[in-house]
Amino acid sequence: MSPDPLSELRDDPAGRVIVIGSGMGGGSLAWRLAHNGREVLLIEQGGYLKPPPRPGKVGQFIADVHGDRVKPIQYVGGQTKFYGAALYRYRESDFRAVEHENGVSPAWPFGYDTLEPYYEAAEALYKVHGSPAGDPSEPPRAHAYPFPPIEHAPVVERMVGTLERAGVPVAAIPRGIDRRVGGACVLCADCDAHVCTVDAKMDAEIAAVRPALATGRVKLLLHTEVLKVLTDDSGRRATGVLVRRDGEEAVLHADTVVVSAGLPASALLLRRSANTQHPEGVGNHSGALGKYLAGHSTGMVFPLVSVGQVKPAHTKSFAIHAWYEGSPGWAYPTGVIQVAGQMPFWEEASRLMRPVVKVVATHSLTCFYMTEALPTAETGLVFDGDKLAGRVEPVQNLKTFHRLRQLAVKSFAKAGYPSIARRRPPYMWHDVGTARMGDDPATSVVDANLQVHGVEGLYVADASVMPSAGAVNTGLTIAALAMRLGDHLAGAASATDKAPTIVSEQAA
Ligand SMILES: Cc1cc2nc3c(=O)[nH]c(=O)nc-3n(C[C@H](O)[C@H](O)[C@H](O)COP(=O)(O)OP(=O)(O)OC[C@H]3O[C@@H](n4cnc5c(N)ncnc54)[C@H](O)[C@@H]3O)c2cc1C
Ligand code: SF4
Repeated sequence: MSPDPLSELRDDPAGRVIVIGSGMGGGSLAWRLAHNGREVLLIEQGGYLKPPPRPGKVGQFIADVHGDRVKPIQYVGGQTKFYGAALYRYRESDFRAVEHENGVSPAWPFGYDTLEPYYEAAEALYKVHGSPAGDPSEPPRAHAYPFPPIEHAPVVERMVGTLERAGVPVAAIPRGIDRRVGGACVLCADCDAHVCTVDAKMDAEIAAVRPALATGRVKLLLHTEVLKVLTDDSGRRATGVLVRRDGEEAVLHADTVVVSAGLPASALLLRRSANTQHPEGVGNHSGALGKYLAGHSTGMVFPLVSVGQVKPAHTKSFAIHAWYEGSPGWAYPTGVIQVAGQMPFWEEASRLMRPVVKVVATHSLTCFYMTEALPTAETGLVFDGDKLAGRVEPVQNLKTFHRLRQLAVKSFAKAGYPSIARRRPPYMWHDVGTARMGDDPATSVVDANLQVHGVEGLYVADASVMPSAGAVNTGLTIAALAMRLGDHLAGAASATDKAPTIVSEQAA
């Protein structure tokens, strides 16, 4: 690119698509559009994340590389630079209205079948290693996972064996890491919440943006913040974006603009794009923008697996989904239990608690349990003008959450592992919503094709459009939705009848 990339990008080459944000949504979309022959201008406010090498460390911890946890993650690849690469399909029931302890998880405008081909395409792009074995909630799939599940480390293998012998069904966590024969992944201990310095983690930069750039159809504009999405005078058509780079502002034109800035940035950007036709923000005629925040209530349980310290190992490989749809004596969906990677999270505990947390964590496997937290018209972002003033958290299902904690503790005990699991308020993870998808413009921001209601050429493709969070990790669904939009914009066949155009590489 020239020293002044903005000047050469002001023209509107026919058919160019502007994509704002290069995370899971934007990166996957850019790849799919380029694959379908479309020209893309991908605008990212951050740059590449390239931590300096540290001897003996393949993965580098988020706190060491990025610092403050509340600081937004702004790099090519977005949050996926640090993600655990647990890449799940939503379960079939996640697309339907399902009653929970404290409300209803809403139906999506389409069912699982519509997204199935795009899940397959996303699994191929992100090189997902998995197996349906041991997972009663796994949805039907047209073809097998692209790659077999990753192997368990010995300490995990022992636990999986004892759990299974105790009658607890155990499944592999589907993982987007490059463990193919000749793949760069060395299954190190520092993966979950770490950045991979050998490019073996299939984050959005490595798996999607890099191959998208290689097609020659995608231009990536770094360190450039989109300040506003622009519409024509009628307010019914997108015309481009206003950007700021190196202190200079410029208008870049395109008749298709996709907002993939993640949460809360996408909703905030639409809010800041207010104009005379959209005084409360573009896509906010009904007041739904910023609302319907959903996510996962998450807790931690530590089954003690060793009298000595557990050696460094790649532990993120098994999950328990036996109670996804319900559990004995409890009619409501319960959630999932997942082993996490090893991470020095005790460094974030108070000075007083740090030694205790460290002893517990280094003698156990760290496990998460996640229950769905629900969206309503009251949950979501609180705007003060065009600033973010706060948020109203999703509706938690706390009895269900504590029940899942008990199920985890009992299962590990049945297999011979005592656990430590503090009864504490849940952490909220995996936010979704705030620009949610729906057929009714009165209660949603985008339609089933992810176009903002009433604004031609303006789309949203990231976690913000998801009507509910299910209880499995959300990343693969974000990618699948973005790839479906990529076909829609390219005028490809409809989602339901289109065979995926990526062919899985041969498993090792
Ligand atoms: C430590 C950690 C572990 C995780 N583990 C998992 C996991 O194992 N599995 C899973 O499924 N999910 C996991 N997640 C969550 C997952 O990474 C996110 O849900 C997902 O990346 C969200 O994708 P997105 O496209 O919505 O947004 P993001 O990834 O947040 O990307 C948005 C991008 O837009 C850019 N941007 C924002 N505003 C602007 C603007 N105005 N102009 C230009 N660019 C802009 C940002 O810089 C960013 O790069 C994890 C997250 C973290 C932090
Ligand atoms: S486990 Fe593999 S993908 Fe993860 S950080 Fe280590 S080498 Fe990278």
